[in-house]
Amino acid sequence: MNKKNTTKIISLIFSLLVLVTHSSYAANANSDFVVTTITQNVYSIVSPSKGLPTPENKGWNSNVHFVVTEKGVLLFDSGSSESIGNKIKKAIKSVTDQPVRWIINSHSHADHWFGNAAFTNTAFEIITSNKALVTMKEHGQPSLEFYSKVTKGTIGSTQLVYPTVILLQGIKRNFGGIDVEFILSNDGHSPGDILIWLPKQKIIIGGDVLSSDWMPMITGHGNVPNLISMLNTVAKLNPTIVLTGHGKATNVESVIRDADLLSSVWKQVKSDYEKGKKPNETLKDIEAKLTLKYKLLYNDFSSEIERHVNLMYKLQ
Ligand SMILES: [Zn+2]
Repeated sequence: MNKKNTTKIISLIFSLLVLVTHSSYAANANSDFVVTTITQNVYSIVSPSKGLPTPENKGWNSNVHFVVTEKGVLLFDSGSSESIGNKIKKAIKSVTDQPVRWIINSHSHADHWFGNAAFTNTAFEIITSNKALVTMKEHGQPSLEFYSKVTKGTIGSTQLVYPTVILLQGIKRNFGGIDVEFILSNDGHSPGDILIWLPKQKIIIGGDVLSSDWMPMITGHGNVPNLISMLNTVAKLNPTIVLTGHGKATNVESVIRDADLLSSVWKQVKSDYEKGKKPNETLKDIEAKLTLKYKLLYNDFSSEIERHVNLMYKLQ
């Protein structure tokens, strides 16, 4: 990879991480990986930190979710490093003796798949989409170096283990008696994002396509109109429980809130851009119109709305 590409990738990784720093809080270095029961056989391990990987959180800044089936554990995302993957594995053992048989990597961002290496001795399949796999192969190594640098090495060494099974849109499968439907977001948050829908439990697990406490995670390599349309699709499923890549479990109200907000901001940016207005003019108008409605619905509305407007201008 040439220097220009490396710089571009590092800057992309940095911009992805910056978007989650405003509301970050450092996790205690010794925080336990606590398993939360969502419903029968469905569990989450929620990271207390949502920000940049740091020496304090040792890179642990994203959630994983898992389903215990009759034939093993189905794991959704695997954490940001091999050692985090090992801690996740230990935490899973606190609720079941079943090994992890299948891993779904929701997308290509490091904090959702670098833990794969911890499960290679038991996992039959590591599943993702083609676009996510291509992006992982392109950004994996520089992301690993970046994570190691910003955590001052506390993240430990990680072997990059890529997914082995490529998923197509609309696939339905049964994992050890549990029905699972795969949904591709059409790149809403990043290329090839995957969500899973458990129709019997009415649970949607959405990685970074869905959010609870924080503003929707739009990125420079995602597609905002497709994200809005994905959120509307998820809302129509009417999930009882919504599990996200960062932050606590939530419900369909958060999905509707995110779709409404993104839709309003995108429409205004598009129209202002066509009129030749500047991002700061649009930001002023949007703040005047939306702050009252949304500042209590998100932890980071005031700091994030500017990034949303600026990024949406770039995406026009
Ligand atoms: Zn992400």
